[in-house]
Amino acid sequence: MPARHGRVVLMSSARSGHSYIFVIGGVMSAVGKGIATASIGKVLTARGLSVNLVKIDPYLNVDAGTMNPIEHGEVFVLDSGLETDQDMGNYERYLGRDLGPDDYMTSGMIYQSVITRERNLEYHGKCVEAIPHVRDEIVRRLKRAAEVSSSDISVVEIGGTVGDFQNALFIDAARVIHLEQPDNVVFVMVSYLPVPGTVGEMKTKPTQTAVRELNSYGVQPDIIIARSTHALDQKRKEKLSISCSVRPEHIISAPDVDSIYDVPLNFERDQLSDTLLRLLGIEAKQKADLAEWEEFAAHAHNGKGSVKIGIVGKYFDTGDFVLSDAYISVIEAIKFSAYRAGVKPEIEWLNAKKYESDPASIKELEACDGILVPGGFGETGIEGKIAAIRFAREHKIPYFGLCYGMQLMTVEFARNVAGLAGAHTTEIDPKTEHPIIAILPEQAEKLAKKNYGGTMRLGAYPCTLEKGTIAADSYKKGDISERHRHRYEVNPDYVEQLAKAGLVFSGRSPDGHLMEIAELPKSVHPFMLGTQFHPELRARPLTPHPLFSAFIKAAIEKRG
Ligand code: GLN
Repeated sequence: MPARHGRVVLMSSARSGHSYIFVIGGVMSAVGKGIATASIGKVLTARGLSVNLVKIDPYLNVDAGTMNPIEHGEVFVLDSGLETDQDMGNYERYLGRDLGPDDYMTSGMIYQSVITRERNLEYHGKCVEAIPHVRDEIVRRLKRAAEVSSSDISVVEIGGTVGDFQNALFIDAARVIHLEQPDNVVFVMVSYLPVPGTVGEMKTKPTQTAVRELNSYGVQPDIIIARSTHALDQKRKEKLSISCSVRPEHIISAPDVDSIYDVPLNFERDQLSDTLLRLLGIEAKQKADLAEWEEFAAHAHNGKGSVKIGIVGKYFDTGDFVLSDAYISVIEAIKFSAYRAGVKPEIEWLNAKKYESDPASIKELEACDGILVPGGFGETGIEGKIAAIRFAREHKIPYFGLCYGMQLMTVEFARNVAGLAGAHTTEIDPKTEHPIIAILPEQAEKLAKKNYGGTMRLGAYPCTLEKGTIAADSYKKGDISERHRHRYEVNPDYVEQLAKAGLVFSGRSPDGHLMEIAELPKSVHPFMLGTQFHPELRARPLTPHPLFSAFIKAAIEKRG
């Protein structure tokens, strides 16, 4: 079928041999569908296959950049600069590789391109409708993601739960792809089996209902991943099997785990990769190679000593549960480096606001082996963060600043070491006498146009390291690339003055204009380093980030 009237070429055969695994949620959200998807990716790559993982978010935001991380979790930035859902971070961590912008889509993104096409008269006078036009745009994007990644299998997580109004078009797109190539598509439902306290017994009914709901879309799951607090027993497996028309060996028991990194190993214990490959008619290239992963995952259970890392931020009166989502990449990056060093990290959430209202309370930082100020925006708790950084510097506690944490480290240094009283970032004080951190002219132009979506420096940028610094020694190379997400920069007008006072800009953009890493020499402080980029976005279980590893090492040394 040729591409006419803006319709996609549905039957195009470019990737018709490509396989798709669609992961759809049943019963309720927040049961670990993202981790299940990432784990499916992991077990398939362990069989020597190339896999790309795709996240579909049904919301109307065009990307995840405008959403509050406390409500929606961290904004994960790809190399391309696309701001995505935190699940993409899990995907990259489990796969151990970068994903591309085609591997992420939102309803907003899809509607935006359909509407733009409509405005450009590309539908030639047709009435533009959700079905077929929007659905076909989803199909087109899924095929493009497969094409661009040149992988063998796309594992596609459809956000939300079956029965949601918002994700129906995505399920319909999956149905269409299945219709076109029935032998290359597998549907996995990640469902939840509650064990109500009053009954004390695992109930299968909600899952039965969810499968029936999915059936009403014309989709039958091939596999059910049965999430629950407990393991699924044989009796319930049979019950689910007969009522949902899913073979008992295709029902995978997925009880709660202490560490999310155990999930791929548990899946393999139930031979999930064999089942998936059999259903797809694909031959594995090798036996499951999970040895390195197993070794890494074991650390979560048997790390010996511990290291206490205080994370100082502004949101920290919202509860640990929310925070672990908002800072997931930071937490995981700490874990990977700590595990590699043979210790378990103990993370302490420290509320910067407290150091403002009760300055004496800052003494609690003495108990930390390392202090970290993560990325952030705005005024709340800012003087508290600066006070914490000062404490770390003066008490020689290893300090690691990520983005805002680097900017504020520079402000603290300017005020208290370089003698630039009142120095600040113009994000907080536009009239400061010493705008140490400021918007550079290129950014200012965009901001003036209120084009907030496009005013940040986003995605991967190259950086050149200065020999003999902590940064260069940690990376063990001179040229790196890291991901950014910020508006403000170290003001070039102050670089010389700050450097004279002892701050080392050990990483700069290749043209020397942008300061990417600031540090204090080892002779002055055991580890005081900040990065304008977000190194946490590049930390992976099997390849911990060199700067996190250097920070953790310094923290272990401080612990003694
Ligand atoms: N608010 C700072 C900026 O926009 C830092 C951003 C961040 O930490 N991601 O430059």
